[in-house]
Amino acid sequence: MIRSTEGIVLKTFDLRETSRIASFFTKDCGKIKGVLKGIRADSRKFGSSVDRFSVNGLVYYEYRRSDLHLISQCDLKQFYFSIRKDYKRNVAANYMLELVDTVMPLEHANKKVYRLMLDYLGSLETVEDIDKLVHIFQIKILLLSGFRPHIDACVKCHKKVENKARFSLRAGGLICSQCPTSETHFTAISRGTIASMLHIEQSDWAKSSRLGLTNTARKELKYILNNFLVYHLEKKIRSARYLS
Ligand SMILES: [Zn+2]
Repeated sequence: MIRSTEGIVLKTFDLRETSRIASFFTKDCGKIKGVLKGIRADSRKFGSSVDRFSVNGLVYYEYRRSDLHLISQCDLKQFYFSIRKDYKRNVAANYMLELVDTVMPLEHANKKVYRLMLDYLGSLETVEDIDKLVHIFQIKILLLSGFRPHIDACVKCHKKVENKARFSLRAGGLICSQCPTSETHFTAISRGTIASMLHIEQSDWAKSSRLGLTNTARKELKYILNNFLVYHLEKKIRSARYLS
């Protein structure tokens, strides 16, 4: 079957002498893998050099018996020059790709994830506060991929958390001050940080981006999100260590 869609390049690797395999997160089909035959022998064969995080229009033959499809057309739509020129923006873009590649299964369409990636890349071209952008992305991708931490109530007694709470990495959520815990992998979390996380989950990209984050919230989000991801994903996100 021939499919036509658009997609963001997640990663590529060379195949034999002249071809390249690329994985994309596409608008209509989710994460797909395909071969671009002859792309390294003839650079004009495709209208794109298939660089990471570029957006491309795609036409491909979908094989039923294989995960690896044949890409017949790939045309560059968006390159993101400003991100590529700047080391920190580049790192943040590559971190996003690795995170999406890790949490999203193959060929599982999710238009919201695609939209989120475009919003993130669009903002990353110009925004000053890159750390905040990364946190917003982390919170939203956890929600959309089904890895969301439990932050509405205490994971043990299910009551709303009124004052001081702890975030348990193992339980994947909040434990209130009344509930005992013998766990060692937990950290204090302030109400402001919980409120910020809920606000980001419930708001669209533009509204989330306008949210101000206190220094406490930044510190807590950085520790909690990075460690939560490491704890709950089977794979370490390698590019995370390059983020400041
Ligand atoms: Zn409790």
